[in-house]
This record gives sequence, structure tokens and C-alpha cells, in this order.
Amino acid sequence: MPKRKRKPRNVDASDVNGEDTVILHETVPLQLRYYGDPVLRKRAKPVAEITDAELQFAEQMFMTLEATGNGIGLAATQVGVLKRIIIINIGEVDDEVYEPLALFNPEILSAEGEIVAEEGCLSIPDVTADVKRPERIVVEGINAERESIRIEADGLLARVLLHEIDHLNGVLFIDRLGGLKRRLLSDALLRLQRAERPS
Ligand SMILES: [Zn+2]
Repeated sequence: MPKRKRKPRNVDASDVNGEDTVILHETVPLQLRYYGDPVLRKRAKPVAEITDAELQFAEQMFMTLEATGNGIGLAATQVGVLKRIIIINIGEVDDEVYEPLALFNPEILSAEGEIVAEEGCLSIPDVTADVKRPERIVVEGINAERESIRIEADGLLARVLLHEIDHLNGVLFIDRLGGLKRRLLSDALLRLQRAERPS
């Protein structure tokens, strides 16, 4: 969800580690997948065991998010990995500071209320729309300390969690729009689908 304006930070480790360090390949941002890529429509599989490799992958996801300069959440699906992993890094919004969060196998336990707010998606550049979602949710998952945690969320955090969990099920925010709103976006979506992007 590219809603937050941030100054992009260079995540390429070559500055600090020299030119041919082996760490370099682990720290470059992962390739984002864009609308039209069939992987975005697939259902991700649960992570059987949170190994060090899974934790390292979550770190790479954080770097990838950071490199976008304005993203606040990312699902593994968006970098072409069909595992149920999401990361969220909202930072500070309206005087509220959110801790970075990696969540493995997130499940929505309950949802209530309804609220409309604007959303965007790193995989659907330059497209935003008002999306209706539950207002308050309870989500369970496993964090980067391998602890099972339960999060009660509302506001922006609830919205990002729901948006990212949707990605794990092959669902995009544009799927949640009414027919008219969706039709208004159809030209932009078609252009995105036809665009050639680096792979
Ligand atoms: Zn998205």
C-alpha cells in the first residue's frame, strides 16, 4: 500500500561491504511482481517451519519494501514466493508509531464493522481507489521470534493486514471494488497488464 511518503534509502550493501562481498546478493531488493503476473492470483502455502532461511527471506522483504520508498506492507506473493508471509512497516503516521512486523501464516480470527479508505498496491502502480473493509480485526500468526501472537487492530494497521492477507489468497484490492469503480480503472489496468517489465 503506497500511502506513506518516505525518502528512499539505498539498500544496496555495496557501499558498506565492498564490491565482491557474498552478503551483497542477500541484501539487494527482491523483484516485485506486477499486475498481470499470474503469480499474484495464486494461493500461497503455509510455512511448515520457520527456519533461518525463512527469517532471512522476511528481512529481504523488509529491504524490498524500504527500497520502494513509499510502501507500508508487502506479501511474499508480491515477490513471486508462494508462502504465507507478510511484512508490515508503517512507521509513524498521525503521531502513532508502528513497530515493523513480520507475520508467518497469518489468520483472520474475527472482523467487524465497515470502513472505506483509499488504498494502493505496490504491484498495481499509480492506481488508487476507495476500498471498503472491516474496521476492526483480530489476526493470529507467528512473528519473527517464532512466537504465536494475536493482534487486535483497527485503522491503518487493520487495513494493511487485510490487504496483505488478501495477497496470500490471490486477491487484489481492485477485486473489492464495485463494478463502476472497477470499470473506471479498467483502462489503467489494461495498460499495466500489457506493460513490459523487467523480470
Ligand atoms: Zn498490495
